[in-house]
Amino acid sequence: MSYGQVEWIWMNGKSVPWGEANVHVTTHTLHLGSGVFEAMRCYETAEGPAVFRLEEHLERLFFSASVYQLELPYTKAELAEAVCEVIRLNSLSTCYVRLLAYFGSGSLGVLPRNCPVGVIIIAWPFGAYLGDDVLENGVRATVSTWTKFHSRMMPTTAKACGNYLNSILAVREAVGQGFHEAILLDIDGNVAEGSGENIFVVRDGRLLTNDADSSILLGITREAVLEIAGDFGLEVVVRKLSLDDLLTADEAFFTGTAAEVTPIREIDGRLIGTEPRGPITRRIQQTFFDATSGREARYSKWLHFVNLVRV
Ligand code: PMP
Repeated sequence: MSYGQVEWIWMNGKSVPWGEANVHVTTHTLHLGSGVFEAMRCYETAEGPAVFRLEEHLERLFFSASVYQLELPYTKAELAEAVCEVIRLNSLSTCYVRLLAYFGSGSLGVLPRNCPVGVIIIAWPFGAYLGDDVLENGVRATVSTWTKFHSRMMPTTAKACGNYLNSILAVREAVGQGFHEAILLDIDGNVAEGSGENIFVVRDGRLLTNDADSSILLGITREAVLEIAGDFGLEVVVRKLSLDDLLTADEAFFTGTAAEVTPIREIDGRLIGTEPRGPITRRIQQTFFDATSGREARYSKWLHFVNLVRV
């Protein structure tokens, strides 16, 4: 996920020029991965740029922070305004937003004692995550040789920096073998998730996905897709997914802030279903983009308009 340099970055209470947004080398999180973060997308709508599900992302940030006893020095309202500020200052519309809360300098022991908490927000222009044509043609995935860590090792429902070492191993292996993305199985051999996405399967007209019992991050896109599918009147089943469920699915797709709704066309060379993007995946994807772009009034509750003056 490469980024273009932008003019302003929000750092610890104010927007500063790109070149001044630095931390010291003794930053605890740099050494030990002790931070928590969020990734969001902002979309162009008829009423200007809008961040998709900003409140839910901030909710999850505070949850992740509480797991690691990282005390955020800002309120949700302050962070929401900071996200909008950095989008406005950089004159962005369609963009990706990364918000990171980190333990700063104070100790390099395992325990982040006396390490002040810092927060940074970066926004940059961004297109499709897994490739240019993948929203239409789907991705080729591989089942990773790496196992998704169990939530008793580290809570998978908290979005912590260190969690991603597991994902990095898996995605590096997958891309090194020519695939777009890795699918990790959990410790019992059931499907967990992609390196940065949740997984859905369509079987016999029903939509299936797993939950926190399968050591996944409870994605905010996942939740939106569950609601959209329910609104269609589709039968939705949340349960563990076996590898067979996935390999013999009629359709499968990834969901995530970066990946949005991306069809899975192939797993280890085996075609999933009969078309790269099946009909239910297409319908869900279309409605998802109608929601993110403000074209579907029913889901405007998910949009946080950047230019709206709040009092
Ligand atoms: N699982 C993992 C491991 C992720 O990194 C992500 C991306 N945040 C997701 C699932 C999807 O979550 P969301 O829809 O909230 O982006």
